[in-house]
Amino acid sequence: MKALVYDGPREVSVKDVPDARLERPNDALVRVTSTNICGSDLHMYEGRTPMETGRVLGHENLGEVIETGGGVERVHVGDRVCLPFNIGCGYCANCERGQTGFCLSVDSDTPGGAYGFAGMGSYTGGQAEYLRVPWADFNCLVLPEGSEEKENDYVMLADIFPTGYHATELADVSPGESVVIYGAGPVGLMAAYSARLRGASTVMLVDRHADRLKLAEEIDAIPIDDSKVSPVDAVLEHTDGKGADKGCECVGYQAHDPAGNEVPESTMNDLVASVKATGALGVVGVFLPQDDGAPTELTRQGKLPFDFGQFWFKGQRMGTGQANVKAYNRYLADLIAKDKASPSWIVSHEVPLERAPEAYRNFDDRVESWTKVILKP
Ligand code: NAD
Ligand code: ZN
Repeated sequence: MKALVYDGPREVSVKDVPDARLERPNDALVRVTSTNICGSDLHMYEGRTPMETGRVLGHENLGEVIETGGGVERVHVGDRVCLPFNIGCGYCANCERGQTGFCLSVDSDTPGGAYGFAGMGSYTGGQAEYLRVPWADFNCLVLPEGSEEKENDYVMLADIFPTGYHATELADVSPGESVVIYGAGPVGLMAAYSARLRGASTVMLVDRHADRLKLAEEIDAIPIDDSKVSPVDAVLEHTDGKGADKGCECVGYQAHDPAGNEVPESTMNDLVASVKATGALGVVGVFLPQDDGAPTELTRQGKLPFDFGQFWFKGQRMGTGQANVKAYNRYLADLIAKDKASPSWIVSHEVPLERAPEAYRNFDDRVESWTKVILKP
């Protein structure tokens, strides 16, 4: 089958690889029809997160079931399914409490598994013609009749819509509250959209790219360009000097900005400073465990500065980590089915799998208007 393969930092290519196939009785095989490029893929693409060459990327997948193992009961050939990026068994101590981002049964050194992701098991990615889905009865969100028409909405349920929602859940965003979101990439935009769904009165989005900030305006969020103003000052101005009730971090660790803007080591201190005392923070941007080694140009993995004292004195709460996609996507799917949500408003490009290398380059270089790409194998 054709698949998008990681060849080394900033090098990916579409190659023939061995066909995905059933490996265990509870697997399903899916013919992929939509698979997104994610900001998380860029951690591997840029070489910041080490990944072995030859691996197939892609964790935001949707397609049609074409084969099931003998132990699969709920999912059938012909079903159209969206696959949460986290792979869960459904029965470990974390999965049974809905913490499927931290499944203990996956073949990974860390809690949690994902398709085509360094450090989260050896599962192959879905930027390919076919994908093997482990524990298929648990990991397939079966889509309703007629879902083809809203495929670009439903595929956002694999990751960024639930992840944006998770950020607002961790921050406990409630009706009438003000929220500041760092990062207007796809995840930050989905967090802003989720804050709107939860009834926030004021949503502020911080980024330095005009095209992304323009999208913020489409959902009536206040854009804050941190290459021009201090984001903390701007948030204080918009909240009568009080600070936002809640805050979300949707940037994570970054190594470069193609536009040449300064890349601070993390947004965490600004986040704490722009949220009021006793406010809550939802941090879904990905950070890696830190070592004492000097940061290199690729990794910038020195210890991140975080003013724990400021956080502590403000009595803030913080939730972190991978989103438990499965805990949300059934309900978010219903919002899509009933025309109450349409997350595809952020999609900028649909391209065939063959054009994935160009799409990666443009998305990584933040070429204007390349906000969210769906690959169509
Ligand atoms: P992205 O790289 O497209 O977007 C990041 C945005 O942050 C960019 O628009 C960039 O200009 C902006 N940015 C960079 N530095 C900034 C700063 N100092 N202040 C404000 N904005 C800044 O990525 P994305 O797809 O939107 O993903 C965002 C983060 O979320 C990544 O770290 C990704 O790995 C992570 N993520 C986490 C989960 C999860 O489950 N926790 C799931 C998906 C993605
Ligand atoms: Zn993703």
